[in-house]
Amino acid sequence: MSSTLHLVRHAVPFTRYPYRGEAMACNLCGGSETLTVAETDRRLKRLRSVACTGCGLIRTDPMPTEAELDAYYASAYRAAYQFALGRRPPRHHLNRSRREAAFRAELLSPALRPGTRVLDFGAGSGEFLAAARGRGCEVTGVEPGRSYAAYARAKHGARVLHRLDALAPDETFDVVTVHHVLEHLRDPVDTLVRLAGRLAPGGVLYAAVPNMAATGKPPHERFHFAHVHGFVRQTLDRAARRAGLVPHPAYRREDTTAVYRQADASDGSGLAEPGLAQDLAAALAPVRPGAYIASGAWLRPMLRRNAKAIRDTFASR
Ligand SMILES: [Zn+2]
Repeated sequence: MSSTLHLVRHAVPFTRYPYRGEAMACNLCGGSETLTVAETDRRLKRLRSVACTGCGLIRTDPMPTEAELDAYYASAYRAAYQFALGRRPPRHHLNRSRREAAFRAELLSPALRPGTRVLDFGAGSGEFLAAARGRGCEVTGVEPGRSYAAYARAKHGARVLHRLDALAPDETFDVVTVHHVLEHLRDPVDTLVRLAGRLAPGGVLYAAVPNMAATGKPPHERFHFAHVHGFVRQTLDRAARRAGLVPHPAYRREDTTAVYRQADASDGSGLAEPGLAQDLAAALAPVRPGAYIASGAWLRPMLRRNAKAIRDTFASR
């Protein structure tokens, strides 16, 4: 399929995404029973999301394969992931990254001292690496996007690797951060386990994901093709617990933005969330499609999002 046709099929509302996907058990608890929590995403395309009845973790169903996600990033997300080497990432992206990096550095400020070893997984264009180094830290990024990694190296002089296993086998860090990455992954829990394994004794891990229980916008606005997993506070904590981590009481917490420490013997293991899937299905229940479509409330955000996707795609050509 040509990339332009692929893009168009990603943009037309009220149609399915051009992907086949595959059935997948819950990445957090292994369960296979689910409740449907959404049939539509923020572009008003048809996209089914389910919540695991065992633990409440939300996922896209069927789950896009690795190859289908790659095809999506290569077309609909072209500008964000493939700009020509030597050029800058899109300005609005850099501005947002700088704001978010400053917030993250401030939240983590007790830990970001001179000499602190910091690993940022999903480092993007390197704004957080720069912020941490500005506080005297030794910084390492992992970024699979080649052009972003090259930009972070050139602009910020940061050490940026393409994969986590490119680190030395025994290399550990005092601070590990993973900012709005886990929701993009087919295996977020396994990734958290591997990241927790890179913590030095006494280290902290910062994890942030979109909060699927956020109020203030229509439920379908929380769903996005690139976000194949959805978390709320309880499921993020449970994923962290699988990685041997518990919330760190010394850090401020904002729902699904949290700082964790390694669990010890005094930390209980009970994190079952019976009924969470039902609560999420109720909270995310879509407005009845007919009434919603008739209201016209979807038109402006849908146009804005599609215009942005198309602009991002063609801007870098
Ligand atoms: Zn589950």
